[in-house]
Amino acid sequence: MKKRFSIWFGVLFVIYTLLIGWYLFFGANTELPNVYKGTSADPATFMNARQLELSHEFSRIKSLIYFVSIPLEWGIYLFVLYFGLSRVFRNWSKGISRFSFVQIAIYVILLMCINLILTFPLDYINYQVSQAYEISTQSFSSWMKDLFISFWVSNLFMILTVFVIYFFMNRKPKKWWLYAWLLSVPFTVFMMFIQPVVIDPLYNDFYRLEDKQLEEKILSMASRADIPAERVFEVDMSEKTNALNAYVTGIGSNLRIVLWDTTLNTLEDDEILFVMAHEMGHFVMHHLYFNLFASIFLSLIGLYIGAKLLKWAVARYGEKWGVSGINDIASLPVLLLIFSLLSFLVGPIENAVSRSAENDSDVYAIEMTEDPEAAIGAFQELTINGLSEVNPPGLVKFFRYGHPTMLERIHLLESYMPKEKEKMKAPSN
Ligand SMILES: [Zn+2]
Repeated sequence: MKKRFSIWFGVLFVIYTLLIGWYLFFGANTELPNVYKGTSADPATFMNARQLELSHEFSRIKSLIYFVSIPLEWGIYLFVLYFGLSRVFRNWSKGISRFSFVQIAIYVILLMCINLILTFPLDYINYQVSQAYEISTQSFSSWMKDLFISFWVSNLFMILTVFVIYFFMNRKPKKWWLYAWLLSVPFTVFMMFIQPVVIDPLYNDFYRLEDKQLEEKILSMASRADIPAERVFEVDMSEKTNALNAYVTGIGSNLRIVLWDTTLNTLEDDEILFVMAHEMGHFVMHHLYFNLFASIFLSLIGLYIGAKLLKWAVARYGEKWGVSGINDIASLPVLLLIFSLLSFLVGPIENAVSRSAENDSDVYAIEMTEDPEAAIGAFQELTINGLSEVNPPGLVKFFRYGHPTMLERIHLLESYMPKEKEKMKAPSN
């Protein structure tokens, strides 16, 4: 059983990696269509030869790592099941304590440790690649610290969630998914509420924007948009990355507009104002609440399908894996595998919805600031600083892009350029 699983998984994984690698580095057509050549969306007009080459390499290597990491996660869950580790972890945890909460905590921590150990090499490669291309400026110790924090934060949430799920599986074996979902609704809202003030500060330092003049400009724009913001937050990211970013997060009184300090150091004020107007667009068009409702709805569907598939999988393979029933904690890797598969499948749909929202925010921002030159400048800087690709391979866009490509975004902004300037920028042929 172990042998058959290892051979099958190993062979499929190697074939898959080779195919994806071939696609990313040779197969995909990322030639800029002729109509865009020489326009502001053409990276050759704002990046030098070296930047072009680096962005090409860097974004492909990053995508390869992403595409490899997905089946690797599935492989880890299957490995834990086929090699009997799940059964062993359950027996250990039962031997240590008779309290189900402690048993679940021990089991989850052991499973997460195995996961950490097996995914560490790829995480480390990912970090090293970002270092080599000078995107990450983070020291190894700071990187390890973040890894450590996220390990324990996710352990904590995982233990609580798993405890609730298995509690309902024991009490309500048929409708556990519904009860778990009902409880997850207030929890999701609560998490979104505390995220910016409790979770995010565990990783980075947040403080009020130091540049008072700029804050004044941003807040006056916010009041024009009827946003009740009183302050703008700056986050210290330059010790970790060279990439630029800004975002709106949290709900209710914890809503925060956040700017990475890298953005402040790199962009001109009018460029920052465009970026801020984009973030305000998300707020004005209620994208955060839409996301909240969408994730609550998707979790209902996910839990329902998850319950059906878990029942089927345990009935069919439970004996081989040493899993006695769905309410046996040893079935957790099966459930995690199912959730991971489902979220992989729904990812491209979420991306497409998100791309459309991002497009709406871009339109909102350009109509508010009426400064296409600054907006295009901001996007060009974003591309250079993140070594991102203006026109990524189709599969990469499908699976990874929650934003339109820079080609699409800059092209949209160009349509707002005054006609005279557009003519001057058009290719001469
Ligand atoms: Zn956005």
